[in-house]
Amino acid sequence: MELKVRFSGGVVVEYGDQGVVLDPTRSNHSYPAFVTHAHADHAYAFKNPERTKYATHETLRLLGAMGWRHLENLEPVKAGGKVSFGDMEIRVHNSGHVLGSVMYEVQTPGGSVLYTGDLCTESTYTMDPAPPVECDILVVETTFGAPMFSFPKREEVAVEIYNWAVNTVLGGVIPVFKTDSIGNAQEIISILNQYTNLPAVTAKSATPVTEVYRELGYGLDSVDARSAEGQDLLESGKCAIVAPKGSKLAAGNTEEALASGWAILMGKKRAAFPLSDHADYRGLMGYVRRCKPKRVLTFHGGSMTKDFYKHVRSSLGIPAAPLTSRVETIAGPQMSNESRIKACSSQIVRTVKIPGFVYQPSWLIREMGRQGFTPGETENSIEYLMERGVLRGAENGVCLG
Ligand SMILES: [Zn+2]
Ligand SMILES: [Zn+2]
Repeated sequence: MELKVRFSGGVVVEYGDQGVVLDPTRSNHSYPAFVTHAHADHAYAFKNPERTKYATHETLRLLGAMGWRHLENLEPVKAGGKVSFGDMEIRVHNSGHVLGSVMYEVQTPGGSVLYTGDLCTESTYTMDPAPPVECDILVVETTFGAPMFSFPKREEVAVEIYNWAVNTVLGGVIPVFKTDSIGNAQEIISILNQYTNLPAVTAKSATPVTEVYRELGYGLDSVDARSAEGQDLLESGKCAIVAPKGSKLAAGNTEEALASGWAILMGKKRAAFPLSDHADYRGLMGYVRRCKPKRVLTFHGGSMTKDFYKHVRSSLGIPAAPLTSRVETIAGPQMSNESRIKACSSQIVRTVKIPGFVYQPSWLIREMGRQGFTPGETENSIEYLMERGVLRGAENGVCLG
């Protein structure tokens, strides 16, 4: 039995007749579904109330705060815990990304797979970093997996954030941080709380999400824009607004700034802060190295980061490829029967060099076995080569045609 990984409406990990699907993106899987965190592109499994979902309690609470309904059938997991199905054990680790975000390590007798979901490899103002987990196959996200994505030190970004906020208020304008409601919003509130006396006013979904963080133990100080206190603060102009990226605000005299890893791509013309809850290129490369995988499969990147796997190969010397629908094993992509026969056949042709010499099938089976081919594959390949006139039958064996 072999450990297999592929992308098929989610990251599918199989061993024998056991399987799991990680962050599924469609609902017709028969395998148990595991969700890494509450961002919508990972939490699709929660669209189906009937389905059993393995996820953290925090993820469920955050989805509720984002307005997701019918969040039934949760099997709660938590970092440090594990779940077993037959020969498969799924171990849960913190991914450092947002509240309740986890990675899944699938352990089998045939080896292990670590699926990172979204990860952050350094301490942030709200999260501990993702720990490296030694594994055979690492399926790693590559949102910022290109050398151009090099984030400045977090402390430096924090200084820029609160300086801009304070100076904007001093200029008589309310600063607005446009950012992801889950993760970055709470980190900005934490930075403002820690370094300024400026009250943070949350708008739209940033309010209920921050409320969940608070209820689950985060000492974040913020006020909802629609509350009486929030209205007073907006009128006074002495506050900073934290709002979701796409939202429209009714508040009057404001100036907006983006807070996101993507800010690295923006010029200096507008205020933008490269505050990210993802690892940057160096963080990802360091993380891959420390997990000591035998094979790396990349996913969740865009056109700018499609070459991350090439960097893994050239800089770390680890075999790597993008995760696709192709079946992957620790040793490499699993070939179809037909391509196995072709590969075995060309190996035989490279081995059978002496014209007229009779090669015994048992010897060829042994030689091809060393190259990873089964006796059946070698027999079929001999057949294939004889059909094509490359080999011909001789007494006690075959020789070059
Ligand atoms: Zn995410
Ligand atoms: Zn993501």
